[in-house]
Amino acid sequence: MAVYLPCALMLLMVTWLGFLPRWFTPLWLAIFTVTNTVFYALIKSGLNLRLNDPSMTMAQMTVAIAAVAVILYHADAIRGGMLMLLLVILLFGVLRLTTVELLAMGALSSAAYALVIVLLTTRKPQQIEPSVEWTQWATLTATLAVMGPLVGYMSHVRRRLSESLRTIKDMAERDALTGAFNRHHMGEMLDREVSRCERGAPAFVLLIADIDHFKHINDSFGHLVGDLVLKRVAHAMREALRKGDYMARYGGEEFVLLIAANDLAESKVASERLRVQVERLRIPELGRHNITISIGGTVYRSGDTQSTLLGRADAALYRAKHSGRNRVECDTPLAE
Ligand code: GH3
Ligand code: MG
Ligand code: MG
Repeated sequence: MAVYLPCALMLLMVTWLGFLPRWFTPLWLAIFTVTNTVFYALIKSGLNLRLNDPSMTMAQMTVAIAAVAVILYHADAIRGGMLMLLLVILLFGVLRLTTVELLAMGALSSAAYALVIVLLTTRKPQQIEPSVEWTQWATLTATLAVMGPLVGYMSHVRRRLSESLRTIKDMAERDALTGAFNRHHMGEMLDREVSRCERGAPAFVLLIADIDHFKHINDSFGHLVGDLVLKRVAHAMREALRKGDYMARYGGEEFVLLIAANDLAESKVASERLRVQVERLRIPELGRHNITISIGGTVYRSGDTQSTLLGRADAALYRAKHSGRNRVECDTPLAE
């Protein structure tokens, strides 16, 4: 829309100067307002998400090329200058297209201008100088052929950069071994959740899950098997979580989980599900040895900070360990 606007102003000026018929610009504006409204409606309604390319870059460029072809047909004396609009359209390909697609769009622009020349030669032969037009056509085609790969290269670099950015973001937020969020991310997440609760959002439950006798696993089976166990336990817990719940690796074999639940009784079900899921895990490398976790939990209370929450959950975890492990303990007695 932002690109069509200056183009419309330019057309109004050109019409005022008498280079285009008076009726042309209002009609052109009406037609292309309708076409762009259709694109806008497709995006707003989400229908574009069903397409192979939801950005509809090629379709939008094709419409724009048709719009310029109509201008070229009527532009007579200033046709040469209007050809520049086709280069602007090609630049839009930098948002998504590959070099081959850009060359195809360039070929379409070139064909559109060729069609305009052929139509003018047959319909208004007195208004056109074919040798001038075909020379301009050759210049346009050569320019588009050079610009295609250049814009394609920029598009490629742009794609690579956004992929790298995603990788960097992942590396900054995630733990490399288990794929869970890392401690840094957990800190930010907890701060955000605490402020949400302070503003009146529903409370949440914080759990710390710690693998039982993990040192023994490392000592008996080696650190590589220990790493594998960490991965499998993280995966099992992730499977047991509901959408909207959150898990981060807090330390070596400790995980922090944020569960959307209003009270500890509700979260007890979720914690038990986690505990049982890990208990059922079979890891061939460990033979008959089973893995279990102990969980300490607490619910957000008004005035809580990150450290008070973690402190209470840690104290509950300590009790779970001392009451025999492979169990869930919470910081306040649960209503049965
Ligand atoms: P408890 O039941 O009381 O929790 O006993 P534990 O042995 O699990 O607890 P402890 O804190 O004594 O041992 C944790 C061990 O986890 C010690 C450390 O070597 C190991 N560990 C921490 N991070 C990693 C890791 O990334 N890979 C492996 N293989 N081991 C790790
Ligand atoms: Mg530990
Ligand atoms: Mg442990």
